[in-house]
Amino acid sequence: MHILVTNDDGITAQGLLALAQAARSIPDTKVSILAPDRNWSGGGHVKTLDRPLRVKETILADSIQAFASDGAPSDCVALALLGFFETKIDLVVSGINPLPNLGHDVTYSGTVTAAMEALIWDTPGIAFSLGSVENHLNIQDFTPAASIARRVIQSAIENGIPDGTLLNVNIPYLPEAQIKGFRITRQGLRVYRDRLDKRIDPRGRPYYWIGGDSPTGTPEAGTDVGALADGFVSITPIQLDLTMYTAIPTLGNWKF
Ligand code: MN
Repeated sequence: MHILVTNDDGITAQGLLALAQAARSIPDTKVSILAPDRNWSGGGHVKTLDRPLRVKETILADSIQAFASDGAPSDCVALALLGFFETKIDLVVSGINPLPNLGHDVTYSGTVTAAMEALIWDTPGIAFSLGSVENHLNIQDFTPAASIARRVIQSAIENGIPDGTLLNVNIPYLPEAQIKGFRITRQGLRVYRDRLDKRIDPRGRPYYWIGGDSPTGTPEAGTDVGALADGFVSITPIQLDLTMYTAIPTLGNWKF
């Protein structure tokens, strides 16, 4: 079992090291690391077409060999799955992101879109994120989340992830003994509180920041938001088919 570990926070992120160590502790696995050389959080699903991609070898904090690319997380996954490594990658794991990726976050998240890129190349993917629905915590300790990630990866290897599916895993930022268990969920509702801040530059021209407050969420039962709010690990199976099937007959009645 050859596992690729990547992330969207960059090669030096604590969460990447924690996830790599978790994957390496699983028996009969070979772990390769290829991650972006800078933070791509919120970068979405990217394919870099207008420039070459460079890859540099580096060493992580605990002396593990790793590779850093100047591409996006999804570029890193494409590089790895299209032949950067000599042996085939069997599973892509991404994270551990220090903020949760819930509901519509998955379309922004470099952590989740790295796993989406794995699906493009018929390889199973798992995205790991850590946090709470309401508070953007200053996460210092990835130990409980790494232990949970190890359990999820091990179960995914034993059971096999269904074809065409990635797992979006959100882990509550709690000591492991306080985590209540695992829930299989659907995407819930994020409540975004972005505000446009218009300012004037020294030349008198306007510029804009998309700011505002951190998102919250509606903690409905059965959803990722609800599970995280209740202290459970949320595992959401996600597919790339975004078709709104119920709209097909409605649009079929339109006259063009
Ligand atoms: Mn991130």
